[in-house]
Amino acid sequence: MRKGLLIVISGPSGTGKGTVCEVVRRKNPDIAYSVSATTRAARPGEQDGVNYYFHTKEEFVAMINNGELLEWANVYGNYYGTPLKHIEEQRSKGIDIILEIDTQGAMNVKEKCPDGLFIFLVPPSLDELKKRLCGRGTEDDESLKRRLGSAIAEIEIGRQYRYVVVNKTVDIAAEEITNIIEAERHRTDLNIEILDKLKNRKEIL
Ligand code: 5GP
Repeated sequence: MRKGLLIVISGPSGTGKGTVCEVVRRKNPDIAYSVSATTRAARPGEQDGVNYYFHTKEEFVAMINNGELLEWANVYGNYYGTPLKHIEEQRSKGIDIILEIDTQGAMNVKEKCPDGLFIFLVPPSLDELKKRLCGRGTEDDESLKRRLGSAIAEIEIGRQYRYVVVNKTVDIAAEEITNIIEAERHRTDLNIEILDKLKNRKEIL
């Protein structure tokens, strides 16, 4: 049995990763999802263990020190990290798993797991990104500038991903990501067993 794919979906803040990932998950219920740990406060409607595992800073630091995180990063003042155990469990059962993380985290995962499937989600334009960040209504002028500046810097990191998907609409982006995952599942090096099985049936001659 092949090991499950490690699918990393990442991109600049405000690109709509969360919404696109939700649709990808709905379309692909056979794919597991990595629930991140964070020190940020829960937003209304968010549930512990569903959206995130919410922790104090002290608990988070202990998780880092105990080697419980595959990666972690400080994103706009809060810590976020990917619990390692769940990922290993799923992958060892042959189940593919999605991580929705920021670009720093994605690059750290790439160092540790170069065999991952790295997908970079970008907005159709910076004007569109600005509009989306303003639309959230959570950004003041200073933080909007900071986020746009980071987004431009993050776009450069995109070169290091295997695939780029433009988030024109949530449905189109989710479908394109689903297609990429499907293609990846057919990689020859992941399916050598199929060839071996066919080729070893010499008795049929
Ligand atoms: P939010 O607070 O809006 O849910 O997420 C803020 C940012 O943190 C997003 O860019 C999101 O992708 C990123 N993020 C969420 N979980 C993780 C994680 O486990 N690791 C890293 N590095 N980033 C994460």
